[in-house]
Amino acid sequence: MIPRIFKVEKFHTGIVPKSTLFKVLKYLDKENIETPFLLMDREKVKEKVSIIGQNIKNSKVFYAVKANPDDEIIKLADELNMGFEIASEGELKMLSSIGVKPERIISSNPVKSLKFLKMAASYGVNYFSYDSVDEVDKLVRFVPGCNVYVRLSVPNEGSEWPLSKKFGIELDDAATLLSYAKNKGLNPVGITFHVGSQCTNIYNWNTALDKANALWKIAERNGIRLNLLNIGGGYPIKYTKNVVNVETIEKNVNTLIYEKFPMDTEIFIEPGRAVVGDAGIFVTSVIGKARRADENWLYIDVGVFNGLMESVGGIKYSYLVEGSRQTKYKKKWTIAGPSCDSFDVIDKDVALPEPVVGNMILILSSGAYTISYASEFNGFSIPKTILL
Ligand SMILES: *Cc1c(COP(=O)(O)O)cnc(C)c1O
Repeated sequence: MIPRIFKVEKFHTGIVPKSTLFKVLKYLDKENIETPFLLMDREKVKEKVSIIGQNIKNSKVFYAVKANPDDEIIKLADELNMGFEIASEGELKMLSSIGVKPERIISSNPVKSLKFLKMAASYGVNYFSYDSVDEVDKLVRFVPGCNVYVRLSVPNEGSEWPLSKKFGIELDDAATLLSYAKNKGLNPVGITFHVGSQCTNIYNWNTALDKANALWKIAERNGIRLNLLNIGGGYPIKYTKNVVNVETIEKNVNTLIYEKFPMDTEIFIEPGRAVVGDAGIFVTSVIGKARRADENWLYIDVGVFNGLMESVGGIKYSYLVEGSRQTKYKKKWTIAGPSCDSFDVIDKDVALPEPVVGNMILILSSGAYTISYASEFNGFSIPKTILL
């Protein structure tokens, strides 16, 4: 095999660590697998897991499985003793198949399917979020007496993947729902929120914690003593630029919790993206090029439907193009996926050196919300995941 040439620039190693990038390049020199596929660096995942939660006292970390539910990733998270945050029977089945104890599983989707609730109840899962009367009624029916935490709506400004409109309720309604759950025989233990995924604005956590604190006090006045604060996910990773790091976010959060909440408050953290995102590099190939009107189009074998769904919501990736050409001379490209759908456009105005058809393109920081979103639309199969 002729070794493939990649001109790694400073910019690339500013996004993913050299160790991850060179591990991937070495693998590509050695193996000849058809693209597209996702390579995941175990060591990077381990490193992230060792960091997350370190700076928040009394905290437990639950991996949000939907970010990357690959078997090997789940096994790795299990070996690393993480808890798991799940929302469906499929995710629960995967955990039960490797024997994860129910005490290590929580479900923070405020609206859960009946099928999932039945299965979660029989498995012994005992922590659930909610934000409606109907959800309380469902929980009473399927998991009577379970521990519940109410989902508060908090500002999602400054996060690149906002979630606030679909879930969460305001203070007064949340207070009423805590009492409602108690009256129905559930055990209202706490509050949760989600600042939005890929949240690069550290102040989102300040606002959220202020609001949670206000609710905590109202609940106390209503005779409900809470002891759990679930701060959800949202920790960002580097895609094209630097972001605030996990330590900084957590030190800030920890200080605020120390100031505002009782000493014995238990903290849950539910990271998804930050656990797996920057450990993944998508390996794709150029399948075509075209010039249309004034645009240079580059077609690759992974697109919106088979892995890069988040590009539609505004996530911009960094790319590393195979080729021996000068990296100094770059063109602006519109990058599109392989399907016949015009929705299948990943990015615009990306400055890259010109590849030839067949060259590989590596997509950095693509370990989260990629394969888990992929479909077989138009007959393109779901890319496989390989752990290195
Ligand atoms: C998706 C999700 C998470 C993970 O969010 P990230 O931004 O990937 O960290 C955590 N909690 C809940 C309830 C979620 O739905």
